[in-house]
Amino acid sequence: MRVDLIGTGSIYTKYNSASTLVNEELLIDIPNGCHKQLLKMGYKIEKVKAVAITHFHGDHFADLPFLVRHRFALKLLEPLIIIAPKGAKEQIKRLFDVYNSNDFDWKPTINIIEIENSGEEIEILDKYHIKPIEVAHGDLKPAYGYIINNTLGLTGDSGICDAIREIRDNSKIMIADTSFRQGKEMHMGIDDIKDLLSNSNKNIIATHLRDTTREALKNEKITNLIVPEDGYYFEI
Ligand SMILES: [Zn+2]
Ligand SMILES: [Zn+2]
Repeated sequence: MRVDLIGTGSIYTKYNSASTLVNEELLIDIPNGCHKQLLKMGYKIEKVKAVAITHFHGDHFADLPFLVRHRFALKLLEPLIIIAPKGAKEQIKRLFDVYNSNDFDWKPTINIIEIENSGEEIEILDKYHIKPIEVAHGDLKPAYGYIINNTLGLTGDSGICDAIREIRDNSKIMIADTSFRQGKEMHMGIDDIKDLLSNSNKNIIATHLRDTTREALKNEKITNLIVPEDGYYFEI
């Protein structure tokens, strides 16, 4: 499995908003600017077959209409698979409405799978087992992290909670929200990440970074923690 980090930043940085691309075909989150960034980085839109959305904040799903429109322009016949929290059909319709994207018939070009239950695996494209785990992201409920093929963990946006430890324990490497220096209710901090590392031998990749957090992490050089630039990739 090849994993590319399209973005590693929070909203307030020059870094792209956090998103991850698996095998050039499965996106985890499609934030503001993501569609253009895929093109700039040289990925092929026609290869992207599925998107798993962690939650409905704009820095996690705002660019979906642009990807759908581009796929439509390319006349791709297979609908884009979208895995997302309950309410996705309504949320996505509203997004297309506010973008005035209704000048083409986009509904048949997507296949929305709404998550029914946390922990219930969803199988797509005959090769990905995607397990959504409900995480803690304040009042925005439900928000999910994902475990893909029992290998790659992604926390989405979350404060520290048992769900995060579950994602860590059931993956080989975890891409984790590390927004702040001190963890808060809605986002983890460096203190939380240190705690997650101290209780296991797993590797963690920090994402959703504020600039001050990124600088602090680079100075600290924490064992088993990777502080990636946009475009960082690895194989697992
Ligand atoms: Zn969020
Ligand atoms: Zn976010």
